[in-house]
Amino acid sequence: MKSFRIALLPGDGIGPDVVAEAVRVLDRVVHGTGGLALVYEELAVGACEFLRHGDPLPPATFDRLREFDAILLGAMGLPGVRWPSGIEMTPQLDLRERLDLYCGLRPIYLFHPLDSPLRDRAAGSIDFMLVRESTEGLFSTRLRPADASSGCVEDTMRITRNGAERVIRAAFRQAMQRRKRLTLVDKANVLPSMAFFRQVFDEVAAEFTAVATDRVYVDAASLYLVQRPEMFDVMVTENMFGDILSDLAAGLVGGMGMAPSADIGDRYAVFQPSHGSAPDIAGKGIANPVATILSAAMMLEWLHAGEAAAQIRVAVRKVFADRTARTRDMGGSLSTTDMTDAIISALP
Ligand code: ATP
Repeated sequence: MKSFRIALLPGDGIGPDVVAEAVRVLDRVVHGTGGLALVYEELAVGACEFLRHGDPLPPATFDRLREFDAILLGAMGLPGVRWPSGIEMTPQLDLRERLDLYCGLRPIYLFHPLDSPLRDRAAGSIDFMLVRESTEGLFSTRLRPADASSGCVEDTMRITRNGAERVIRAAFRQAMQRRKRLTLVDKANVLPSMAFFRQVFDEVAAEFTAVATDRVYVDAASLYLVQRPEMFDVMVTENMFGDILSDLAAGLVGGMGMAPSADIGDRYAVFQPSHGSAPDIAGKGIANPVATILSAAMMLEWLHAGEAAAQIRVAVRKVFADRTARTRDMGGSLSTTDMTDAIISALP
């Protein structure tokens, strides 16, 4: 029997709703698979935790996270809960940096062509992996104190050789497991940091001769994502570009409720939907749980429970084959729990 300890960080807004649904699916899959056990422990992190006890990521909680085999996170941050500098509390970003989760994996997959704004043009053609560097880039100085009264506030795009090499290698490894095509997305024509990123990419590419590569500026990548998404298999980019492009990419396949993610380092990993806490729909029972359920499948994959992960993905595919089975964000009428029930019923 393989047994794993999972830290649950439901967080804020719709986070607790969608994590509870993912756990229901995991429980059912574990029950049906045999030979696999998941033991959960819930920990309080996020803007609500700040309101309760004055710290969104208490040190004692952070220290405990290293005890677990994997972390499943809902969503964190609330627009009304901010640091004095004006920025929102984002313990999910702190976790990526402090646990060194440099490789953000965002699989983008269209289950049904009519769920895409591209409609029939998108049939069978949107299936790619966005790899986002998650520990440096344009987020690197986000916690540096800023003095707006000076009339000038700067953010720094930080690219280190080690930071670039490790995420680019991870992206090549992803490409090796997929259709063997990797696109670098940068702004090497304007920013020296991005020219350096491209130089490192070219060096690492020499190690992976089986992978076909291309290099696209981030503005053009935005255009191609809409015009011809089928050109992408795996793409790798820096932190901020990845943040923006992942929302655009999610929009191609039905919205934020359809975009799972994993933040992976050499030792630890956090799995969470790509969306935020969606305070506009929190507590209404209408959040789409699919991104979190697919993130839970990524967690199983990472724990080498690939068969269980595949069962979840197949069940989601079966449910989405029926065009009427959708939550409200995708034009349907299913509640959060209805959608989960449908997925559970589709499991073997
Ligand atoms: P963050 O910066 O933390 O990623 P955000 O400001 O980009 O957050 P989200 O919280 O992701 O915003 O929400 C963006 C929009 O998508 C909102 O209208 C929200 O209601 C919708 N949305 C996000 N997640 C879901 C979901 N799981 N189900 C339905 N709608 C969602």
